[in-house]
Formats: sequence, C-alpha cells, structure tokens
Amino acid sequence: MKNALIIGVTGQDGSYLADFLLKKKYNVFGTFRRTSHKCFERIEEMGNYDKITRIKADLADYSSIQSAIRQSQPDEIYNLAAQSFVGVSFQQPILTADITGLGTLRVLDAVKENIPDAKFYQASSSEMYGNYLGIKNEDSYFKPRSPYGVAKVFAHHMTNHYREAYNIFACCGILFNHESPLRGIEFVTRRITWNLARIKFKQIKKFTLGNVSARRDWGFAGDYVEAMWLMLQQNKPDDYVIATGESHSVEEFLTLATEYAGLGDWHDVVEIDKSIMRPTDIDELIGDSSKAQKQLGWKPKMTFKQLVKTMVEHDMSYFKAGMDQFHLHN
Ligand code: NDP
Ligand code: GDP
Repeated sequence: MKNALIIGVTGQDGSYLADFLLKKKYNVFGTFRRTSHKCFERIEEMGNYDKITRIKADLADYSSIQSAIRQSQPDEIYNLAAQSFVGVSFQQPILTADITGLGTLRVLDAVKENIPDAKFYQASSSEMYGNYLGIKNEDSYFKPRSPYGVAKVFAHHMTNHYREAYNIFACCGILFNHESPLRGIEFVTRRITWNLARIKFKQIKKFTLGNVSARRDWGFAGDYVEAMWLMLQQNKPDDYVIATGESHSVEEFLTLATEYAGLGDWHDVVEIDKSIMRPTDIDELIGDSSKAQKQLGWKPKMTFKQLVKTMVEHDMSYFKAGMDQFHLHN
C-alpha cells in the first residue's frame, strides 16, 4: 500500500484527489491549516473525513511541512496548497508570493532533505501564461499578469530546478481552470451557480459580476486530478498541460447556467459592477493537452455543458435541502 501526502487536502482539488487515491487503495494523509471555523466541508461532503489522516501544517511554516513529511513517509506528495485566488492576489501580493511561491520552495526543500526518493507533484497554472493570444502548450512562454501568476511561475521554475539539480522526481501539471460543485465560492463559475440558487430560493433578487467577456478553458476538477496521479506514474518526471482545448466566455457560462436554473434572461438577475474588475485580467486562456493525451493517455471526460448543469443542480439541491444556512454570503 502506498502513502500519499496531499498538501491542501481541504481545497477543491485536494478533496477530489483524496477520493481518487482512496479508491486506488492509497493511505491518504492530508494537511490542513488551523482556522477558527470549519474547514473540512469538502472532504466531509465526499464522505472521506475519517479515511484521511489529517495533519496540521502551514506553507508559511517550514517545520510543520517537515513534520508532515516525516509523519506520512509519502511515496507521492501533491502540493496543491496555495493562495489560489487571482483576485485576492492583487490585494495581498506579499502573502501570495510567500505561500504560493516560496511555500512551494519550502516543500521542495523539505522533500530534498527528508525524502528525496518521493515523487512530487506541483500545481502549476495557466495563469502563468498571461494575456497573449493563442493556444498554449508546454513550450509556450510565461508572461504572468497577476501576483498569483508571478508566484506560480516562481514555483514552476523552482520545481524544474529541483528536478534538474537534485534529481527529484518532480512534475508540474499546468492546469487550466477546472471547476466543480466544490469550487471555492469566490471563483466566477461557482459565484454564478451559487447566486442563481439564492435567487431561485428567494434570498436575493440580483447579484453582480465583473468582466463577463473573459474567456477560459474550463474543465471538471474530477477529471483533472486523475492527470496529476498519472504524471507521477510515468518512468520520467515531466511537465504537462491539462486542458479541454475549448474556451467559453463568462457570459456563455452565465447564459447557460441561468437557463438551467429556469431564471430566463441573465440581464434580469445580474448587474455589471466595474469595481469587481481586476487591474489586469486575461482575456482568453486555451490549452493544448495533446502531450498529456499522448503520453499519459489522459482525456477530459465532462463537457462544458455537463459541467454547468452539474454545478447548477448541486447548488439548487443544496438550497432545497436547507444546507445553505452557513453560506449566506460570498
Ligand atoms: P483551493 O483554493 O480550493 O485549495 C487551496 C488549498 O490550499 C486549500 O486546502 C487551502 O487551505 C490550502 N492553503 C491555502 N493557504 C495555505 C497555507 N498557508 N498553508 C497550507 N495550506 C494552505 O484551490 P484548488 O483546489 O482549486 O486548486 C489546487 C491548486 O491548483 C492550487 O495551488 C491552485 O492555485 C492550483 N490551480 C488551480 C486551478 C483551478 O482552476 N482550480 C487552475 C490551475 C492551478 P484552506 O482550506 O485552509 O484555505
Ligand atoms: P481565474 O481565471 O483563476 O482568475 O478564475 P476566476 O473564476 O476567479 O475568474 C475567471 C474570469 O472571470 C476572470 O477574467 C475574472 O475577471 C472574470 N470575472 C467576472 N466577474 C467575476 C466575479 O464576480 N468573480 C470572479 N472571481 N471573476 C469574475
């Protein structure tokens, strides 16, 4: 039986990856941060709370990362932890650099010092590419447009450096946006489905959005965690783009979600608020995952329409069951 350590198990991807690895019979260890409120909702919703060995660790604290590694003795380490929200990175650039950038270096160094034979996965991001046109692959250059993107580029290059300099089996998955019913409530897709459910259940009449013409390559998180695992099963470590190859605008997502929610025309329920717009945004992101498809045998399964429908249905059923009481605001 293999041991896996998921750094950031309480997040969207951490919850899906834990579920995936438990089904593959791994011993799953996962880190969480001390908070003054509940943080295990996602792994509880998946029914996995008791199946995961939970270890307190923070990416700001090197000794806690070392302890997590020593305690779990992992064969595979997945670094999914980050200040992951681009919007907040403009307001908290230093924290983002410290956690998303330097935090990865702390993990890499702890791996090198304690368990150099373990396999390491780094959650790189399509945000690293920035705003120039075209479909991006592993050879496309990085020109990030947010403190988050800059921090991820640092972490990406550090991961490559540890692979080359110290022979660590380290892989970067350059994942394009991926969503699910467990997506953080501040990201645009979940903001839309969550607020549509609030409207349907008469809690609010309207909500606000920012730049609805932005286009993203949106896949399903459940499909993407399989790619993370596949990368670590190869003979050699490498970097891979994981994407669907299709882009859709926020407005397309909104139109479809409003339709699935049975709420008619989105203009009746959404107002555009310029203050939500970012100092710099990315107009469009599309990824070319042909390397992953060829070498890993990976393919996205859920379509864009299925993804929107799944998220709308989840949030509607959540409100219907009266489960929304702890989440009135976003
Ligand atoms: P989430 O925001 O849902 O999860 C992030 C995780 O990081 C949470 O478990 C969070 O803990 C943890 N974390 C945050 N700060 C710290 C810290 N200081 N110390 C330890 N843990 C911390 O993100 P996703 O699951 O969506 O994404 C997973 C990874 O993939 C992230 O690195 C993200 O940047 C990257 N990524 C995501 C994409 C996407 O579309 N989802 C696209 C490309 C890359 P807590 O629950 O306490 O906040
Ligand atoms: P990102 O691609 O990681 O930044 O994911 P987000 O879901 O946060 O944002 C995707 C796109 O939606 C960006 O171009 C945002 O500017 C745009 N957007 C428009 N309105 C909103 C909003 O209300 N919230 C968020 N998070 N993004 C919005």
